[in-house]
Amino acid sequence: MLNVSPYDWVNSHLDTIQRAGWYRQPRLVEDLSENTITINGQTLINFASNNYLGLATDTRVKQGAIRSIERYGIGATSSRLVVGNYELHRQLETKIAQWKGTESSLVFSSGYMVNVGVIPALVGNRDIVFSDRYNHACLKSGTKLSGSFVLEYDHCNSLHLAQLLENHRPHYRRSIIITDSVFSMDGDIAPLREIMALAEAFNSMVLVDEAHAVGVFGAEGAGVVQALGIRQPLIQMGTLSKAIGSLGGYVTADRALIAYLQNRTSTWIYSTGLSLGDTGAALTAIDIIQQQPQLRERLWHNCHLLGKILGITITSPIVPIIYENIDRAVSASAKLQDQGLLVPAIRPPTVPTPRLRISVMATHTETQIQKLGESLLAIDHRSAHT
Ligand SMILES: *Cc1c(COP(=O)(O)O)cnc(C)c1O
Repeated sequence: MLNVSPYDWVNSHLDTIQRAGWYRQPRLVEDLSENTITINGQTLINFASNNYLGLATDTRVKQGAIRSIERYGIGATSSRLVVGNYELHRQLETKIAQWKGTESSLVFSSGYMVNVGVIPALVGNRDIVFSDRYNHACLKSGTKLSGSFVLEYDHCNSLHLAQLLENHRPHYRRSIIITDSVFSMDGDIAPLREIMALAEAFNSMVLVDEAHAVGVFGAEGAGVVQALGIRQPLIQMGTLSKAIGSLGGYVTADRALIAYLQNRTSTWIYSTGLSLGDTGAALTAIDIIQQQPQLRERLWHNCHLLGKILGITITSPIVPIIYENIDRAVSASAKLQDQGLLVPAIRPPTVPTPRLRISVMATHTETQIQKLGESLLAIDHRSAHT
């Protein structure tokens, strides 16, 4: 046992990760504009960010954060239930609830914290979770933490979901169906109408994660639930950090459910309240989203332009280009980078199949979209399939 350290396993695991081609490191962002990003001294057109409407760099949103910080300071200084509950939090929660057409909402320090806290508050070891196979990692973590019996249904397959509900729902106390509305790595959309009908038939709750839908779908940009006109009771969550351009997460539902969550969600109760700058930025950004539908129109215009150039149908601003192996996806990403375009290669274990993941923004110019489309067609795009 001499010369053996309890940390020896770390290097051997790192080797394994490297040999599999799964090793990753963060890039250093040196500068960011409304549609470019500077990395290693190279300024690239940014097709990697979730900043769909460009609000993360918007002057009005920055001012919203600055005003809030000047008025209240940086940190909320304690959890919400002690002395970390501010007027701005109340305003933001009221605004989110109204926007989403619900009664009440709660904001958290991140979307991840919402899912790992809310799911275990809703279900436990006498209950069952039906989860889309492609759900976001934090939905899966929350489900695991809840100790519930979990069944994954095939991606967006409501027939498979119906079968599982039929066979298993009767044996458990509570049931919840959990799904992204827009899937974060595939950009496709959950069959929410069918899911709501099944939930009604099988007496099941529904949690919809609108992280990539808010700001993008719906008449007021409130998400896919709004776009589909769904009115049945359900639980919606989302993030303040994608189209809204700030940081934080929210859950929204009827008044009783939110009151219950305030008393039972550990990641809300035992974590410091959302910082005031992030709260103020989110308030301003949601105002802009509600008042300026032209931002959303601009985003969709860019999406359709890219679809036309590539000859594919686009369902959301997330456009995956699938490759058979990691090397090809990585080499395509490198070729695009040589041409001044940042399009990340996403690889296992994040996704089952390697891919380029394009993120379209409202702030891209037509020339930038054209350049991306033409570069993709010029590299080995033909041998890949979308
Ligand atoms: C990004 C994301 C989250 C997490 O939100 P954060 O605020 O970034 O923690 C949750 N769900 C989905 C589907 C996401 O894409």
